[in-house]
Order: sequence, then C-alpha cells, then structure tokens
Amino acid sequence: MQGPDDEVIAMPARRSFSLLADLRRLDRQLVALACPGCGVDAPFPIRDHDRYFLKVKLSACRGCGLVYLARGLSGQAQHTFYRELYPRLMCQPPAPPERWHYRLLAGYRYSEISAVTGAFESVLDVGAGLGFFLEACRAQGVSQYMGLEPGAPQREHAVRLLGSDDRVRAEGLGDDTRLPFAPRLVTLFHVLEHLEDPGRALRQVARLMDPQGWLVIEVPDIRADWHELGLHQIHVSHRSYFCPRTLEALLGNNGFTVLHQAREAHGIYNGNLRVFARPGNSPLGYQAPAAGELHALASHVHAHIRPLSLRNGYPRTALRLGRMALKGR
Ligand SMILES: [Zn+2]
Repeated sequence: MQGPDDEVIAMPARRSFSLLADLRRLDRQLVALACPGCGVDAPFPIRDHDRYFLKVKLSACRGCGLVYLARGLSGQAQHTFYRELYPRLMCQPPAPPERWHYRLLAGYRYSEISAVTGAFESVLDVGAGLGFFLEACRAQGVSQYMGLEPGAPQREHAVRLLGSDDRVRAEGLGDDTRLPFAPRLVTLFHVLEHLEDPGRALRQVARLMDPQGWLVIEVPDIRADWHELGLHQIHVSHRSYFCPRTLEALLGNNGFTVLHQAREAHGIYNGNLRVFARPGNSPLGYQAPAAGELHALASHVHAHIRPLSLRNGYPRTALRLGRMALKGR
C-alpha cells in the first residue's frame, strides 16, 4: 500500500535553463525596501548579493540593528516567486528520506516546546509546511489543530498526512483570518524571516490566539555560528535576519512579552533561535545601535559567509542550479 511518504508529486515539465532565466528576471523585479522591523530606511550595507547572485543588498538597520534585505521582493513579483519559483528552488516536497528528517524534527520540537509550555489542547501552526508538527501534536492528544500553508506542494502533503482538507488552509496570515477556536499555542517555525511585515503578522496572531496562550517562534540567529551554512544563509526569501535582541524588540513592540529563549547550535538549523512569548503589551521601542556595533555585526556576517567555499559557496550553488536547469526543474 502506498503511504503519503511514498507518493511522488509530478512537477510539470519545463524547458531546460528556464530556472536561470527566471532568476535573472526576478533580479530585475526586486525593489528597494525599508527595515521590516522598525520601518526606518537607513541601511548600513553588509553585502550585495545572495546565494543565487541576486542583488539583495544585505544591510543592518541603523534604526534598530536588524539585519535585512534593502532590496527584495514585493507585490506581484513576490506572489509569483512563492507560487512558482520557491517550490522549485527548495525542491518541495522533498524525497521520502528527507521527509523522515522533518518528521523527527517535529517530535523533537513537540518535546522541547511542551517542556516549557506544559500540555496544550489547541494549536495553530502558521506556515505548516509538510504538516509533521501538527501530526506530532495530534499523536500527543491535541484535539484542536489547524495549519496555514500557502505553498501548494507542501499543503498537498500536509492534507494527505492529516487526512483532512479543512485542517490546513491554503493561505497565510491575513487581517481577515478567522479561526474556529482561539489556539493555546501558536507556532511559526522559520516563517517570520520570510514575511514582508513581521510586526503586523504578530499583531494578527495576538488577535487570534488565547490571551493566556503561548507563541513559539523559530528563526535563524544571525549572531550564532553558522559558518557551516555559509552563503546559503543569505537568500532572497529571507527578508529579516534576527538575533535574540532584535526579535525580542519586534515582539515587545507588537503585543508580546518574551519569557524564554533557547539557542541551538545545530540540529534544526545551524544557529536556531527558539523564542517563547505570551500576549501582553510591553512596548520597548527600538534602540539605534552604535556605529561600532554595526561594524562588528558586519564583520561577524562576513566571517561566516565564505562565498568561494567549495562546500557551500558559489561553486556549489552554480553546480546545483546547473543540474536543476539541465533537468528542466
Ligand atoms: Zn530597523
């Protein structure tokens, strides 16, 4: 019998090298962006290009210290990118052995989260991906669960895994999002760094969730040791590159109080930051970093990127993209 992990979702055939042409077109569509955290438009430049050699202008905000892309996706270009290009670049859904890796991570996440929050009876997973975290919650007796996942191949997998079409909605967070229950736990695993307006998303979460509940966020930590990732860290879809301080500021200014943070060196991600917060207003304002701090931050990023590395720099990316282009992915 075929299980959800054995099925192959057919990708439509494409002309060879269309991927490279699509990336070139995307580069022309990128636009100037202000800081997604504090909204100030005063970038301190760190690096021009991302892993696909798109000119994203990685910068640190002089207003709040958040590292972000000062040139990036917006409007229709963003919509088309996530609908068409992102699943191809990310090879979603992954092959069955990789999916087992995701399933193991889901169990680990459940264990780490419930150790802090205690048992919870309802959960909303924003950016539910392949659905494994919701599956793990259900296996632990969580009775009310829902996911939001705009990516079609990922959602298709999640729906099959959970056996229910209405548990994973084909949408992201929006002002008109309504839920059939107020979740005790809301999770965003590697989602916040992709969002155009992460502060607005947090305010939407605060409106939807149980005021006594928990919000758990995971993001890459730009101040961690991520030299194993190198250039792969810098990606056009990653708009914000948080650290404990900038994420706490964003949460504090958008309706949440941080109660616990966990920094993990490896495993889920090289430099994974997991933050536990609860609804409650503790506006902190945004603190402008000193010039010395900006230089130190830029040095830290440069020391980890290693663009010429054979393992994770441009030679590897060129090889991978070349193979994908030849296969017509
Ligand atoms: Zn800022």
